[in-house]
Amino acid sequence: MPAFPRRALLAAPLAAPAVLRAQTQARLLIIGGGFGGATAASFARRHHPWLDVTLIEPKTRFVTCPYGNLVLAGARQIGQITHGYDGLRARGVRVVHDWAAGIDAGQRQVRLAGGETLAYDRLILSPGIALRWGALEGYDEAAAEHMPHAWVPGDGAQTLLLRRQLEEMPDGGVVGLAIPANPFRCPPGPYERISMIASYLKRHKPRSKILALDAKEAFSKQGLFQDGWAALYPGMIEWVPGNRDGRVTRVDARGRVLETEFGTQHRVAVANVIPPQSAARIAIEAGLTDNSGWAPVNPRTFESRLAPGVHVVGDANIPGPMPKSGYVANSTAKQAVASIAAALRGEAPPEAVYFNTCYSHVGEDYGISIVGVFRPNAEGTAIAEVPNSGGISPRGNLPEQRRLEALHADAWYESITRDMFA
Ligand SMILES: Cc1cc2nc3c(=O)[nH]c(=O)nc-3n(C[C@H](O)[C@H](O)[C@H](O)COP(=O)(O)OP(=O)(O)OC[C@H]3O[C@@H](n4cnc5c(N)ncnc54)[C@H](O)[C@@H]3O)c2cc1C
Repeated sequence: MPAFPRRALLAAPLAAPAVLRAQTQARLLIIGGGFGGATAASFARRHHPWLDVTLIEPKTRFVTCPYGNLVLAGARQIGQITHGYDGLRARGVRVVHDWAAGIDAGQRQVRLAGGETLAYDRLILSPGIALRWGALEGYDEAAAEHMPHAWVPGDGAQTLLLRRQLEEMPDGGVVGLAIPANPFRCPPGPYERISMIASYLKRHKPRSKILALDAKEAFSKQGLFQDGWAALYPGMIEWVPGNRDGRVTRVDARGRVLETEFGTQHRVAVANVIPPQSAARIAIEAGLTDNSGWAPVNPRTFESRLAPGVHVVGDANIPGPMPKSGYVANSTAKQAVASIAAALRGEAPPEAVYFNTCYSHVGEDYGISIVGVFRPNAEGTAIAEVPNSGGISPRGNLPEQRRLEALHADAWYESITRDMFA
């Protein structure tokens, strides 16, 4: 997928005549129909109907990562987490099922793999992540057919492959997970996954074990997860942090071996490898990322620091202390749209405040959560968490609280997917 030359980005002209454009129908182009992109498209049509909105997304159905772990547990079917784009079409969004192959920020154009070129006044890019194939020796696309990552669900095949492997493994087998260092998509996601696999094993293969090899020394909601594991799955889960040789550096996909930094080889029955990540390929090829592999953005508008007129939302950017979550993608996409609408009218961007709630399922009727509220600092150079604004579920034996949080999680999933697609 060759991109337009980086030089074209650097030669970007000053913004188009904003007020003039706003009076006609300004063209908002959005790349990626996931949490950031679908939210932006829907929000733009609902709140700024004078915007002409086109969404570019290759897939005709979007399978969410959220609740994918419940498919592994057998608590959801893949069809229950699959969404179409007819709702956005009904709102007046032009949905183009194709890949964006290159961005020319200088000419304000996007080239599609199918050959079409689309012009824009403002571009929102929310293409998600790329897996860094080869960052773990032996882990490439072919290896993922034996050791699924199930971290970019695509059409759901990776999640279903992992589920099938769990069904086929013998009782008494070991499920191994390789978990990356920060930053990566959904910080609590691997630990919810451990919980949901344990929930399945407890019911169907109770002599089995889970070995979680982690490149980190600590993780999101750690105390709450570990309390839940001790209560629900005693003796089933071993979590090995990086400083106790938990960092996986090499895999043998066919032999189902996970090898750690100090050369320890773990042969497992099923391996789920969550590899290191970067912004999706289109963001890298368009020159929107820096050495970190992620896209630097203005914290008030999510406009790229490297390409005027291009706003990068969702997991592909560097969001400061905010996690790479669907909730944050949703929240920042709305601010990006509002900022674009303001800019096209010749106005300043609205005041920015971002929200996150990450629910995790630990067991049946057992949910936990972490909440954060974030704002740009006074200088507008970085994002900071608002002191005393968020919080985490309380620890302790609180079955009613856990039951309610599992219900709140279900309501969150229902409402955010409606916000995106309905
Ligand atoms: C197991 C798991 C559980 C999770 N649970 C939660 C949760 O409970 N709560 C939560 O808030 N978050 C959760 N997340 C995180 C959440 O899925 C991501 O943060 C969110 O999807 C990011 O949104 P995005 O728009 O950046 O990317 P995505 O939602 O992945 O969307 C990106 C879209 O861009 C498209 N695309 C990519 N390249 C191109 C291109 N060149 N041209 C056109 N289209 C392109 C892709 O096809 C894709 O549809 C979870 C993640 C995982 C892996």
